[in-house]
Parts: sequence; structure tokens; C-alpha cells
Amino acid sequence: MGLSVRELNQVAPGVWVATAEVWASNTVVLVDDHGAALVVDPGITPEEVGSLAEAIAARGWHVTAGLSTHPHWDHVLWSASLGDVPRLATPRAIAALADDVERSWADACEVAPGHDRSLFGALTPLGTADGAPAGSDVPLLPPAPRGCRVVVHDGHAPGHLALVARGVLVAGDMLSDREVPLLDVGPGRDATRAPYDPLGGYRWALERLEDAVDRYGVQVLVPGHGGVAVGRQAIGERFAADRAYLRALERAAEPQFDPFPVGCGNPLCWCYGARTAAASREAEAHGPRPWLAAPPTQAPAVSDPRLADSWVDGEHAAQLGFLRARLLARR
Ligand SMILES: [Zn+2]
Ligand SMILES: [Zn+2]
Repeated sequence: MGLSVRELNQVAPGVWVATAEVWASNTVVLVDDHGAALVVDPGITPEEVGSLAEAIAARGWHVTAGLSTHPHWDHVLWSASLGDVPRLATPRAIAALADDVERSWADACEVAPGHDRSLFGALTPLGTADGAPAGSDVPLLPPAPRGCRVVVHDGHAPGHLALVARGVLVAGDMLSDREVPLLDVGPGRDATRAPYDPLGGYRWALERLEDAVDRYGVQVLVPGHGGVAVGRQAIGERFAADRAYLRALERAAEPQFDPFPVGCGNPLCWCYGARTAAASREAEAHGPRPWLAAPPTQAPAVSDPRLADSWVDGEHAAQLGFLRARLLARR
């Protein structure tokens, strides 16, 4: 589909949002009184990112900096037409992308072919002496417009940041009405490279973001994908929905983690009720039998309207499997 100039909607004074066709991805353009613009997560396809540059130029603004909320490929794209300006990200995000850049680029090429490889993930570390550790709430320095702050955490990806400016929280891939909380289960789902406790890290990140909402009087929340939430009640509902999902996810992962499930279900068989590897193999070898009862513990189902989307449901299944394996390994 041909895109002309990308549509920009103002959500607060000088804060504009453009929504991409792919995954309802949101780009935020923050403009000061002199037309200096900060572009956050510029979009997905080359056409979209290019048309964003046209929309910015058509309004007489000039891009002075970019900002990537986190090191996933759909947040580190750029177009030469946006200008050769610093594109800021946290040092930890930059390191994480560097560790995984070829796989990320391959993903980008698959969904949004045609980007310039030399611009992919060409990021500049935020200018803070301490490297913006998790939990920091630091000002964004020029060339970013004045009055911007970033809150840094590791909730969905290493070195993830949220931008806070003019009563708006730009949350990156958190607090979406389309996506359930997606934990950091390792790059490309490589669990060996995942953090020790991604669930705890995610909850901690939600606390930091909620603190920022209170501290800066945030009234508008822009997620990386999905609808904008306006007003404290709507924002509070996003936090509540994400926490409810995390509780349900944890419950679903925990109760039936048993390395050696009980045997075949036939009370006359030696493996019945036995919790050994041999019993487990025996039960498997028997295959389904008419007397097989339901498993003794059934994981509670996770119900969340966002799981109606098949991609989100697939991510949910993957992180449920990840958490179960983690809990097993720690037993
Ligand atoms: Zn992401
Ligand atoms: Zn994303």
C-alpha cells in the first residue's frame, strides 16, 4: 500500500504520535518551540519511516535527535531522510543489540525489507557518566529538546527506557492494550542468555514506571504498540492489566512443575503415582489409555483478551514454557 505523508496526532503540547501499519507501532515526535524534533522509535517499513521524514519537513520541523526505547529491531530503524543526527539509547541496550545484531537484522529484513543496513541500530549512548543503570531517572541532554527525562529498566529488554516529557510517558514495549507483558526470555528466545529473574525484573520495571507517572503527573501513555491511554484512570488500568497477567502467568507456570509426572493413571500399574524418570517413561510408552484420568494438577489457564491475537498467544506460550523450565531447573 502506498503511503503518503504520515499522519501525526498531537497527544499533548508538542508531542505527536504516528501509528505504523505493522503491529500498530507508535512513533513519537517531540517538538520544541523552535521546531527541533526528537524522533522516538521511527516506525517499521522503509516507506513509513521515509514518510515520517516528509511529515516532519512539511511542518517546518527539523530532527535534532532520535531515541530508541530498547534494542529490539523494530525500535532501532532509521532513514537517511530523517537526517544524520545522534540516535540515543542506553549503553546496555546498545551492548545487547551488538550481541545480537545479525539475527535482529535478519528479522528486520523479513518483516520490513529495504532498510539501509548501515543505519540499522547505529546508536549513541545516552550521555550520563554512570551509564544509566537500571532504576535511573535521568534528563536527556541536548540535542534532545529540553525537559525530557528517561527512566531506565530491564523489564522487557536490557537497558529499556521510557521517555517522560510534558505529561506524556512513552513506554516502549510495556503497558500495551495489544500485547501482554513480554518478558526478556533471551535474544531469539535463547534462555541461556536471559536474565536470572525476568518476571521479577518486569514487575520492578512496572513499579519504576508507575513512580514516574506519579512524580511527573503523567496524563498520557503511549505504548510501543497499540492504543494511547489518556487520563490517570486509563493509565492505571494498563498497569492493573499487566500485573494481573503476570500473576496469572506465574500461577500457570508454578503449580505443576514436576520433573517426573505421575505414572500412567492405571491404579494397577507399577508406575501409578510413582515420581521417577522410569515411571515417566513407562507412562509415555503406554500411550493414552481409556482409564487415564486427567493429570493430577492442571495448570490454571491464563485468560487475557490480548491473547486473542495469535502472535501474542504464541509469545505467551513461549514465555510460559520458559518460566516452567526455569522453575524446574531451580528445584
Ligand atoms: Zn520489544
Ligand atoms: Zn516492539
